[in-house]
Amino acid sequence: MTILRKGTWFIGRYTGESEIARLKAGAVPPPQGRSYAPDKLVDVLHIKLEVSFDLAGKAVRGTATHTVSPLTDGLDHLVLDCVELTVEGVTDGKGRVLPFDWDGEKLTIAFPKPLGAGHPIEVSVRYHGTPRSGLYFTGPSEAYPETALQVWSQGQDEDSRHWFPCFDYPNEKATSETLVTVPESWTVVGNGALVGVTSDRRRGTKTWHHRMEVPHVSYLLSIACGEFAKIEDSWRGTPVQYFVKPGQEKQARRAFSLTPDMIEHFSETFGYAYPYPKYSQVVVEDFIFGGMENISATTLIDRCLMDERASLDYEPQDLISHELAHQWFGDLVTCKDWSHAWLNEGFATFCEVVYREHWRGGEDAGYHRLQQMQSYFERDRSERRPIVTKAYTLPMELFDQHIYEKGGLVLHMLRHVLGDGPFWASVRAYLHEYAGRNVQTEDLIGVINRVTGKNLEWFFDQWVFGAGFPEFEVSYAWDEKHKTATLTVDQKQKVDERTPVFRTPVTVRFHGRRPVEEGIVVSQAHQLFSFRLEEKPAFASFDPGFHILKKLTFKKPPEMLKTQIVKDPDWFGRVEAAQALCREGSREALDAVGKAL
Ligand SMILES: [Zn+2]
Repeated sequence: MTILRKGTWFIGRYTGESEIARLKAGAVPPPQGRSYAPDKLVDVLHIKLEVSFDLAGKAVRGTATHTVSPLTDGLDHLVLDCVELTVEGVTDGKGRVLPFDWDGEKLTIAFPKPLGAGHPIEVSVRYHGTPRSGLYFTGPSEAYPETALQVWSQGQDEDSRHWFPCFDYPNEKATSETLVTVPESWTVVGNGALVGVTSDRRRGTKTWHHRMEVPHVSYLLSIACGEFAKIEDSWRGTPVQYFVKPGQEKQARRAFSLTPDMIEHFSETFGYAYPYPKYSQVVVEDFIFGGMENISATTLIDRCLMDERASLDYEPQDLISHELAHQWFGDLVTCKDWSHAWLNEGFATFCEVVYREHWRGGEDAGYHRLQQMQSYFERDRSERRPIVTKAYTLPMELFDQHIYEKGGLVLHMLRHVLGDGPFWASVRAYLHEYAGRNVQTEDLIGVINRVTGKNLEWFFDQWVFGAGFPEFEVSYAWDEKHKTATLTVDQKQKVDERTPVFRTPVTVRFHGRRPVEEGIVVSQAHQLFSFRLEEKPAFASFDPGFHILKKLTFKKPPEMLKTQIVKDPDWFGRVEAAQALCREGSREALDAVGKAL
C-alpha cells in the first residue's frame, strides 16, 4: 500500500485540494522512537531569500525562491518545511500561480504539469509571519534598557523553517543568496560575499545582498542585522571581520585577534585552505547558544567579550576555534542526518585541543582534554548511549557530551592509534572527497581505509557505535631474579549489549636511567603482560599522555608514586601519581604530594 501511494506521487496530476491530501498521505511515518532523514523529491540547487522586517511587530515578510531539480520523472509536487508562517502566494519562474496547501508544518506546492528528472524549476513563495524561533528580534526593555535593536537568525537544528520556507534537513545542500532590507544605519552580516548594498532614500532603508557559492545545508543560512561596529582583519588576503555593538571594539580585538592565526593553523593542519570568500564573527544580543557556525559568518554570544580583568579568568579561544573548525567540519562537510552529528561536533571539539596544542603547547591542550573527559564522564553517569544512534525524537537530544566531548576524545584516540601522519592525511582526503557534500560515519571509516590501508571498523564499533569506556585496573609487580616487570590489566566496566570489553593499543613506559617503551594491545577482561628489563624501573606508566578515553586505577608501590610525582616528564603521569597518593592517604603520601606541589 505504501509503495503504491508513493508511486502515485510521480504519475498523478494535480486535480485539486483532495489531490494534495493524497500526495501528503504518501509520507511514511518512521518506526516508533527512531528518527531517519526524510525522503527527497528534488535536489535543491539554490535558495534566494528576500526579506524585510517590521521591527515593532517583530515580524518578517519575504520571498523565498528555490531552484529545484526533480530527482525522478513525473514529479507533480514539491514539499517545503514551513512553520507558523502565512503563505501569501506561490509562483513559478515565469510568474505563473501555483496551487498550494499548508497544514501548519508542510507547504505542499502542486505543479500543473509533471516535471522531468533533472529539469530545474524556480518556485517563489511569498510569506510573512512573527517567528517564535529561527529568527529573533531584540531591543531595549525596562529591565534591560541597553539591549540593542537587532534581528538575527538561528537555524540549527531545524528552526530555519520558522522564518523561511525551505527543505529543512541536513541531507540537502544548495548555494544561497540573501537580500535583506534594514534601516539605513544598520549592517547585515550574511553568508559569503557581499554582492552590494542598495539604498532607498525615500524609505530610509538599505538592502544588503550576500551570496554564498559553496553549497550548504539550510540550517547554516543566516543573517545578523543591527547597528554594528566592524573591525577588519585579514588572512592571506581574505577579509576576516568582527562585528560588535559600537563601543565594544576594544573587547572585540581582545577576543578575536587570534582568528587569522587559527585560520592559518587549521588550513595548514587540515590540508584544506579556508574555503569561503570571508570569515565574519558577529556578536549579537541575547544569543541563545554560545556560538553558531553559520557558513562563513559565525554568530556568537556577547559573553565572549570581556574587559581586561575578566579576560584573566576566561578566554573565549575554545569557543572561537570550535566555531571556526566547523567551517570545515559541519559546514563544508556536513553530517547526512542528526544521528551522525558527531562528525560536526566531535571534530569541532577535537579542534579546540588541536589549536591549544599550537597556541599553548601539549600540556595545556592535554589539560583541556582532561576537562572534556570529566565532562563526558559526568554525562555518562546519567545516560550511557552510543555516539551514533537513531533512537531519538528531537535532534537536540543528541547534542550532549556524547557527540561533543566523547566525539572529540575519540578523534584524539584515532589520531593516536593511526599516528599523526596517517591521521592528518586521512582528514585531508576526507575533506577533499566530501567538500560540499554530506557524510556519515562509514564515509570516514572508508577514507581512513583507502588512505592508510587500515581497517578500523573495530575501533568505530566500540567507540562510536558502542557505548561507554574501559575502566582499567592495572597492577605492577617486579621479579628481581628474572628482571621481569609484570602488569596485570583488568577491565572493570560492566559489560552489556552496548558496553564491550575494549580492544585498544596501549603504550607502556618503564622509567629509569634508560627509559623503555613498549606497545601492547589490551583486548580481554583480564590480561598479564611481562617485560624483561635491564634494571628495576623507578616507576611505570600505562598510556603516558593519557590518550585513551578511560578510567585508570594503577596500583603501584608508594615508592614508585613518590618518584613519579616529581620525575615523570608526562604531566598526566604526575597528576595520576598525585591522585593515587591522595587516595592512599598516609601522612607520608600526603607529604610527598605537598612537596611536589
Ligand atoms: Zn559545535
